[in-house]
Amino acid sequence: METRNDIYHLSAWRGEFTHPEIERGYRQHNQLTFARHLRRCLVVWLVLLLLFGLLDYPALGVSTEFAIVAGLRLATAVLLLALFFQLKSKPELATEGYAVTAIEVFGFVLFFFLYFIRHDIVSWIIGVVAMLIISLYVFVSNRVYLSTLAACFGIAGMLYSVWLNGFGAPELIGLLFMLSLPTVVGFFTALRLQTVQRQQYALFKQVSSINRNLQNEIKQREALEAELKRQATTDPLTGLLNRRQYEMLFNRERERCTRQEKHISLCVADLDYFKRINDTYGHDVGDLALRHVADLFNRTLRQSDVLGRYGGEEFVLILPDTDLDQAADVVNRLREALQASTLKIPSGEIRLTATFGLAQVAGAEKNIDSVIKRADRALYDGKAAGRNRVMTA
Ligand code: GH3
Ligand code: MG
Ligand code: MG
Repeated sequence: METRNDIYHLSAWRGEFTHPEIERGYRQHNQLTFARHLRRCLVVWLVLLLLFGLLDYPALGVSTEFAIVAGLRLATAVLLLALFFQLKSKPELATEGYAVTAIEVFGFVLFFFLYFIRHDIVSWIIGVVAMLIISLYVFVSNRVYLSTLAACFGIAGMLYSVWLNGFGAPELIGLLFMLSLPTVVGFFTALRLQTVQRQQYALFKQVSSINRNLQNEIKQREALEAELKRQATTDPLTGLLNRRQYEMLFNRERERCTRQEKHISLCVADLDYFKRINDTYGHDVGDLALRHVADLFNRTLRQSDVLGRYGGEEFVLILPDTDLDQAADVVNRLREALQASTLKIPSGEIRLTATFGLAQVAGAEKNIDSVIKRADRALYDGKAAGRNRVMTA
């Protein structure tokens, strides 16, 4: 099985990732930067090519040789310009390397011709070819193995030209050694550069992946925490607050209202004849009805009101900043909304009503139980008086 480190393995001689997907990803990640570097390099190359062309005229005058050399220079210049403009829309040409390699090969041909034409600077030309070999490794952004192909072409062409000129084996071997030196130095320099760039990329990818995993884990933990909190504070059937939670909120709101000299009211609601719903339609429909009532209460009340499930089909409403008269209005609206609502079930629809017992929290009443007890008593009175009503303590 492939481990994470294996996929970032680098080939020792090519300085590229052995995994094709990773190598493709690396090139895609860097192609804009490489294209920019290559474009800059093409401009320098073009300027040097044309500048050195100025020296051909004094040496050759207007002649066939001059025309050949100028033609080759212009042809190379056209290729350089073409690649320069192509790189704008196709930056991948920079990371693939074939196009620039082709121009490098073509560029060497100019020097082979120069060797035969510019007799005045033969030894210079060999020196410049050595310089060119090292520059194509170090300066031109290209893949190491393609630079090596171009360098080998340059060396072979130069040796062939020298041989055509009648030089013997010792000179050829000397020249081979001389041109091999920049090739070896250039090769290892470029190889090191490519390897370091790819190692950095591998590190970057690994750190990004760790970061992504961490972010995911944080998100999962946050979701889990929220879910745990929800489970610890709410009733699973209706999603309303459980006793512990609404007691805590009652204490907080009571303290705040006392501090700000405001009233706070509490209401207990009990659904009317709920046993019948269970008996007639089954427990599942009973549960559905409880959820329906919880949703309706939630939608109708203010955000700041506290709504909890007190018992089986009993609910607690805490109304901060509300005195008994105001609370009676609010709760009456709630009662009417419930009475008007219908719960659709497969066999038809169900209508529900509830009886509400209401109490205003007295200043000295620190415990929710005594308030609930008073509200419960009022609720009982409401049941006895015929249900579907709001009674105040
Ligand atoms: P009343 O008008 O006097 O309140 O009549 P009631 O039938 O509603 O009487 P009571 O309040 O005593 O009945 C409570 C019934 O609510 C008993 C039980 O069958 C039902 N109940 C309690 N908890 C649940 C629950 O979680 N799901 C369902 N489906 N029913 C529940
Ligand atoms: Mg009850
Ligand atoms: Mg009931």
